[in-house]
Amino acid sequence: MLATRLRAIGDIRTDQVPMPEPGPGEVLIRVAAAGICGTDRHLTRGEFPCRPPVTLGHEFAGEVVALGIGSDPHLLGRLVTCDPNIACGTCPACLTGRINLCRALSAIGVHRDGGFAQAVVIPAHRALPLPPGMTAEEGAFCEPLACCLHGVDLAAPRPGERAIILGGGVIGLLTLQLVCLAGADAMLVTRQDAKRDLAATLGASATAGTVAEAQRLWPGGADMVIECAGVAETVTAAPHLARSGGRVVVMGVLPQGETVAIDPFDLLTREIALHFAFLNPFTQSRAVGLIAAGRIRTAPLVSRRIPLHDAPAAIREDARPGEVKVLVLPG
Ligand SMILES: [Zn+2]
Ligand SMILES: [Zn+2]
Repeated sequence: MLATRLRAIGDIRTDQVPMPEPGPGEVLIRVAAAGICGTDRHLTRGEFPCRPPVTLGHEFAGEVVALGIGSDPHLLGRLVTCDPNIACGTCPACLTGRINLCRALSAIGVHRDGGFAQAVVIPAHRALPLPPGMTAEEGAFCEPLACCLHGVDLAAPRPGERAIILGGGVIGLLTLQLVCLAGADAMLVTRQDAKRDLAATLGASATAGTVAEAQRLWPGGADMVIECAGVAETVTAAPHLARSGGRVVVMGVLPQGETVAIDPFDLLTREIALHFAFLNPFTQSRAVGLIAAGRIRTAPLVSRRIPLHDAPAAIREDARPGEVKVLVLPG
């Protein structure tokens, strides 16, 4: 079968590899759709730790076509999405319910082979069946939406509050929709016109092209600022956009080792709460339910659909202007 593998840092190719076989407690999934994520670009550049060679792809869905010994027989033939994060269940973090902070965390598509392939083997307990009517393309959005749910849970929007979302990529545009569902007033900040237009159709009550413009529009600041861009400039700006007593949640992934300047005196005297949201602890089934119910829209976020042969170039390059999500359809 074909798989898009990171062979070494900077070396990603689509190659012929043997078809994997599901071991005990595992299932074999024929991948129908897999999303390219900023993390795939970080992994390829060596900015996020992993151990190549490995097949990338942690946002995917497909049909269960074979079962290993002991796997739930009801999964066979089902369209499923994958929660890629496998926690050990026994470390101090796991034992206190903080599974995303597991010290032995293993992620499908990062530490073991993932979904940029015609087929992938995953533990059966990481497969979530999709309700009837939900498509594989929608299923590929469940992992990023689950990460946004964790961040929005920390931001805790209430009806009538104001939220500023920094970044118009898929995380920003999913977070925008969640914040609107919670009844908050949302402003999305991105330099790209096309993404501001898209945000307006997805519920943003305001959009801005720069941090300065956001400050002019809402001079009192926002109750919460959610950083979804993963760049130093917006992480630095986030506290300045929060009202006194407000909260900041950083969801964007900066390259490992990168640092930003913060102003502790300002954070202290204005009691700004600074949170970080990592991964998707116990949120993936809520993501499935929200998309299945049509309460979160994913189709407008699909910019391109590409075959596996085009995946290496799409992962190596930066996202194109206006591009939100590129889906790999292994076919
Ligand atoms: Zn991702
Ligand atoms: Zn653990």
